[in-house]
Amino acid sequence: MNSTVRVRFAPSPTGPLHIGGVRTALYTFLYARKHQGTFILRIEDTDQGRYVPGAEDYIKEALDWLNIQPDEGPEIGGDLGPYRQSERKAIYKKYADEIIAKGNAYFAFDTPEDLGALRKEAEANKENFKYDASTRMSLKNSLSLSPDEVQNLMDQEAPYVIRLKVNPNEEVVFQDLVREEVRWSTNELDDKVLMKADGMPTYHFANIVDDHLMKVSHVIRGEEWLSSTPVHVLLYRAMGWEDTMPEFCHLPLILKPVGKGKLSKRDGAKFGFPVFPLDWVDPKTGEEVTGFREKGFEAEALLNFLALVGWNPGDNEEVMDINTMIEKFSIDRVSKSGGRFDYDKAKWFNAQYVQQGDEEDLATKLKPLAAQKGYEVSDDFLKGFVQLMKTRVTFVNEFLDEGYYFFEEVKAYDEKNLRKKWKEDKRAKFDLLYQRLDRINNFTEEVVETEVKAFLQEEELGFGAVLPILRIGLSGTLKGPSVFGMMELLGKEKTLNRLKKAYADFDKLLQNV
Ligand code: GLU
Repeated sequence: MNSTVRVRFAPSPTGPLHIGGVRTALYTFLYARKHQGTFILRIEDTDQGRYVPGAEDYIKEALDWLNIQPDEGPEIGGDLGPYRQSERKAIYKKYADEIIAKGNAYFAFDTPEDLGALRKEAEANKENFKYDASTRMSLKNSLSLSPDEVQNLMDQEAPYVIRLKVNPNEEVVFQDLVREEVRWSTNELDDKVLMKADGMPTYHFANIVDDHLMKVSHVIRGEEWLSSTPVHVLLYRAMGWEDTMPEFCHLPLILKPVGKGKLSKRDGAKFGFPVFPLDWVDPKTGEEVTGFREKGFEAEALLNFLALVGWNPGDNEEVMDINTMIEKFSIDRVSKSGGRFDYDKAKWFNAQYVQQGDEEDLATKLKPLAAQKGYEVSDDFLKGFVQLMKTRVTFVNEFLDEGYYFFEEVKAYDEKNLRKKWKEDKRAKFDLLYQRLDRINNFTEEVVETEVKAFLQEEELGFGAVLPILRIGLSGTLKGPSVFGMMELLGKEKTLNRLKKAYADFDKLLQNV
């Protein structure tokens, strides 16, 4: 790693990682790998009120599953750690003292009750209370009070916060790699709290201190943080760090499948699809959400799908492995407008991965699932099964249900089609065909196919008169894979037994009309 690209994914452990966060992690990772840079995981856990136990582990497990591996991070370590903000308290304290000393921030002693009352009062006048240049001199802070008064309050250990002193009537201009030039009037900002009364930094302060100290070159994050960026730019200036300020890159939102706005947790419940990578049970409410993993998605397929929500490689290629994504990724091709979440497309990607998946690997994945169902089969049988079925399923977890008839007897026949095909006048032909099959020694797909075709020709029968019956007899349905392939995999004995039983069942079924 010899490049100066250092990027970070900085989630807050306030709940399960949303799919939008996963995409941010992915783009950040792709950018790092593309530029032989460093990918950092930083846990932003300074908001103790919003901390949710288990959320940090969830984030790590999700990244692990997706194989988005950080180079530096809480458990991995690195030269510029610690990488968990709650372990960096002393660092923030030092820089808070510095920003105060520079005169760019101040102590504010207003109590939550004072501020609550002011907010209420403003609301009553249909206004918004803002702690800023227009109000600060009438409030209780180290700018409005005399040095003695401030010292007094400090001596009494009165609780205080530290606020950024934002000058009015200025314009903050910064370049964003996606949104280009962004302008923001400081009149729209307030004097943001940098350090809270509990001695913890706020997101804004910890974020810029850490990005600076961790030598972050590019801040890649969701568009919802765009309005925080002017504050961050002011903070870099206030700290005297503007020369090494990172570049900003705000990613477009992932939008609801229909209608307006950002894809939310509720959309998942409403439309019945996952919006989180893994299952999660909220420790407080017991509320459960389903993950893409548990739904049966392949990690690679989910990444491929997500990569293309908001980025396109510029050619028409859609199915790409991670290395191809790394090779092709560029922020220039990240779109400004939000990308709609299309669950059918996500499933399509998964089906592509299953179809193109290595048969040996798929068989290995199916082995424990088959064992759970009590199916005793050889590895070769599973591989043959995968070969026949992989174009017919969307998820690995569908294989055994869709193709159960390879492992147990047929449970039900497609009666509707049976009625159309099981004709009195052809009945005897099926016995002849049975005998023909019984004479085959080398019961392979090719041999069976040749024999059946020869039989059809000799008897002047069409495919449509015979094959559906064989299919329904062997699998119960017309949807299965190649009938000759099915016969080879089931083997001669099972095929014949099954057909014999099926003929008898069909006779019985159709007599009882
Ligand atoms: N902790 C913020 C989050 O939860 C990080 C935003 C950023 O990347 O600056 O998304």
